[in-house]
This record gives sequence, C-alpha cells and structure tokens, in this order.
Amino acid sequence: MLTETRPSYRLTGSTGDWEVVMGLEVHAQIASKAKLFSGASTAYGAEPNSNVSLVDAAMPGMLPVINRACVEEAVRTGLGLKAKINLYSRFDRKNYFYPDLPQGYQISQFAHPIVGEGELLVDVEPAHGEPSYQFPVGIERLHLEQDAGKSIHDMSDDETYVDLNRSGVALMEIVSRPDIRSPLEAAAYVKKLRAILIALGSCDGDMEKGNLRADVNVSVCRPGAYEKFKATGDFSHLGTRCEIKNMNSFRFIQQAAEYEALRQIELLETGQQVDQETRLFDPNTGRTRTMRSKEDAHDYRYFPDPDLLPLRLDPDFVEKIRASLPELPDEKRIRYMHEYGLSAYDAGVLTADADRAAYFEEVARGRDTRLAVNWVNQELFGYLNKQSLEITDTPISAAALGGLIDLITDQTISGKIAKDVMLKMIDTGKSASDIVEAEGLKQVTDTGAIETLVNEIMAANPKQVAQVQAQKEAGHAKPKALGWFVGQVMKNSGGKANPQAVNEILKEKLDL
Ligand code: ADP
Ligand code: MG
Repeated sequence: MLTETRPSYRLTGSTGDWEVVMGLEVHAQIASKAKLFSGASTAYGAEPNSNVSLVDAAMPGMLPVINRACVEEAVRTGLGLKAKINLYSRFDRKNYFYPDLPQGYQISQFAHPIVGEGELLVDVEPAHGEPSYQFPVGIERLHLEQDAGKSIHDMSDDETYVDLNRSGVALMEIVSRPDIRSPLEAAAYVKKLRAILIALGSCDGDMEKGNLRADVNVSVCRPGAYEKFKATGDFSHLGTRCEIKNMNSFRFIQQAAEYEALRQIELLETGQQVDQETRLFDPNTGRTRTMRSKEDAHDYRYFPDPDLLPLRLDPDFVEKIRASLPELPDEKRIRYMHEYGLSAYDAGVLTADADRAAYFEEVARGRDTRLAVNWVNQELFGYLNKQSLEITDTPISAAALGGLIDLITDQTISGKIAKDVMLKMIDTGKSASDIVEAEGLKQVTDTGAIETLVNEIMAANPKQVAQVQAQKEAGHAKPKALGWFVGQVMKNSGGKANPQAVNEILKEKLDL
C-alpha cells in the first residue's frame, strides 16, 4: 500500500519530543576504466600499488589531463537527478596533508561544481506493515573530485602501509539538502540514489567495495523548528549537526543515525551542547565516536588548480547525453502502472531495483500480468526476503518461474499445488513440469473422477448434506457448509482436483 502522507518521526526524551534532520553527502565512484586525471586502471582488487601512474603518485612536473568519460558520467548523473548542468565549472585544489594523498592536495570542485540543484523522489517502505510513502529530497550540488589512496594500519604492529591504487579514481560527490527526517528515510534515500546511478550506468553502486559511501549529517530539533527553517531558510532554527563519515551499508546508516540522534538528545536534555564534529560509526558497538572536532577542522586553502583549464561544456554535448538517457526507476514505475495495470505499490517494488525489473519483465512476457506479479512479488520475493537473498541470487530463473506459471494457466496444476512445486523447484533445481510429472501432481479435471469423490463424501456425511439444504432454505445464496464439502473433496484428491470443477459439481449434486 502507498500513502500520500509522510509520517513524522519523533523521539521522546525526558523533556518532551524531538525531531531529526539529516542531509547526506554521498561519494559515488564513477564507473570508468581509467582515473579522473590519468590513464591508470581503476580495476578493483589489483596488486597494491600496481595501478599507479606518475600523475597518481604525484611525481614532480606531472600534469593532470581530464578524462572525458568521467565528465560525461557526471553530466549524465546530473540529468538523471533532474539537476541544472553548469556549462562552466572549475577544478580547485583542496590542500591537506595525509600519507595516502601524495599530491598534498585533492583536486575537487568547490565554488563552481559541474552540477547544480536537482531533486530526487525517495520511496520509503517501513517495516511492520505500515504503508509505504514517497518524499522529495533536494540535491544541492554534484561535483567531481579525486579519491585518495588507502592507508593500511593492520598489516604490521608498528608500520602503516600505503596503497595508491585508489589514488586519483574519479568520484562524484552528491550533496543533499537537509530534507531527510528519519533514519529509515536516510537509508531509503541512499537506496534510491543508488538505483538511479545503476540505471544510468554512472556508478556500479557496489557498497561492499566502497564504490558508494555516505557521510550522514544528523541534528535534532523540537517539533515545529524544521518548518520554520523551511519557511525562512535560516539554519539557526535547526540544531548543531554531526557528520558520520563513510557509511557503506543501509543498515549501518540507519543504526548510526538512530544512535546519533539519541546521543544528541541526551546531551541537550542534560544541559550540555552538541559540538559540531566528524564522527565514526563502530558496527561492533552500534555507537558513533569522535573522529575530529571542529577545532581541528582543516583550513583547506582552496584555490583554482593552475594545471587545469576551467571545464566549458558545449550545450550539444549535454543534449546528446540527455537524448541517450536510459529509462530511470520512476519512469519505469509509471510505465509499469500503465502497461501492466499495476498499483503504484506493486510497480514500486518491482522497479526499485533494475535486476528485479528485468526479472519481472521476462516472467511477464506473453503471460497473464496478474499471475506474473503475484508470483514474482509475493511468492518469489517473499521467499527471497525470508532467506535474506537478493534477486541476483534467486534459485529459480525467470524462465523456470514462467514455466511454473504456464502450468497454472493451462490448468495443469492449481495455484495451491504450484506453491509446493515452487519449493521443490528450489530444493531440486528441476523444472516445474518435471516435478509435476514425476510426482503425479497433475490437476484432476476429469469430471467423472471428481463426481465419484463427491458422491462418496455426500454418502458418508448425510448430516452436512442436510445442513447445506437448511442453509439454502434459510436464503443463503452461498451456504457455508458448501465450503466444508469443497475442502473435503480437495483433501481426498490430494489437493489435485480442479477447484472450479469441484465447485460446479458440488453445486449440481447439492442442488444449489
Ligand atoms: P559543509 O560544507 O560544512 O560540509 P554544508 O552546508 O555543505 O556544510 O552541508 C553539508 C551537509 O550537511 C549537507 O548534506 C546538508 O544538507 C547537511 N546539513 C546542513 N545543516 C544540517 C543540519 N542542521 N542538520 C542536518 N544536516 C545538515
Ligand atoms: Mg561537506
């Protein structure tokens, strides 16, 4: 079910209710074979320090050269986020010292990002059967920047190693407005953003490999304060925020935001203040802890990178990319509603993920849509959810599930038997028709055989026969006792009798 209303998330402290405000900064690695300013490979899992060019290692005198493919992907992403594409943008140096940053600065975009304001529609599916809903999140900007290398602290007790393979890899930093109002919404925002990036092909969204990571900004305020902020744009109505760095799992984003909001409420309610700081989440304890406070905040001394010309995009370049945009999740959802007559909810579940959508389309091709939706959304996804499996791990291929549905459509088996057959398909990897054949599960549509069963049951149960008659005479169009007979016939047939035929024959014999 999908509702129009956005529930408000409240936390109750000892001094009353609180609300949460969040804005996210997502770092998405661009799906590009080469780095942002060098031709070195971005292949994951390579031997440490094997994908490092002289530019990535910051050898003196080396010059960065912009990778056109990365610029294209940033523009494509901007268009996918319905954002303004800035035809003029510029690269700045963000200066800081860190062992895994050999240049001594990161090339980023500060004052003039390549993409300006946009918007994204988030789909939230609460647990516990509460209705799902949508809400918009403003995108403030998207800019291009280089990733740093990796410091490895756990290979030796007294030394730190540096792997520069990641140094110079292209990132898009996507900054949201503080429009996110609960931990669940924060996770849902990243999910939706990830789905869009994957559909666009600009980022592969592999969070385990760190290709998509979110910095989660959290503050708390009293009910009503956020509305004042929205009306005036004045941030002072909001609480001081903390930023939780580098979250790369939906579950951790939610846990960290929850913990952080409660921590801030506790501080405020005991007369303390929230210090603006950067924090880290520890999945083992479920807590966040200080990484650096505002006092140690760097002065990055941003200035335009003198080695790079400003980026000027030709409007035709942008229009060509716009014309080649693939179908995005929201568009797909609307198409599913029209093409297949699905509810917004069903269409949303199927289009939340490109792999699910592709699976569904294959099952639905040439088949009854209603059956396809039920078997994919309810039966298969229900099973996968229970097993914590993704659609990509499905033990039943779309073709195999289609084969099962075909047996229901041509009345070889009933929907009820089909559920057992599905589980057997999962266990054995066999096709539906092989299982039905081998186990003799074919539906009995032979009316003679069903009649025999009906006669036997009526003869053995005169009391129930009389009951049906009494209910009929009392004016019940559908005597309740009829259901009992249907159940008996189905049971005696081992679930194989065609329910429609059973109903018809029973009505005839019982004179209904
Ligand atoms: P900075 O440049 O210092 O990182 P920004 O204004 O760019 O600060 O904000 C960074 C992120 O923090 C944005 O995603 C923004 O939406 C979010 N944010 C700003 N103020 C708040 C707040 N009071 N509570 C929660 N998030 C906030
Ligand atoms: Mg920031």
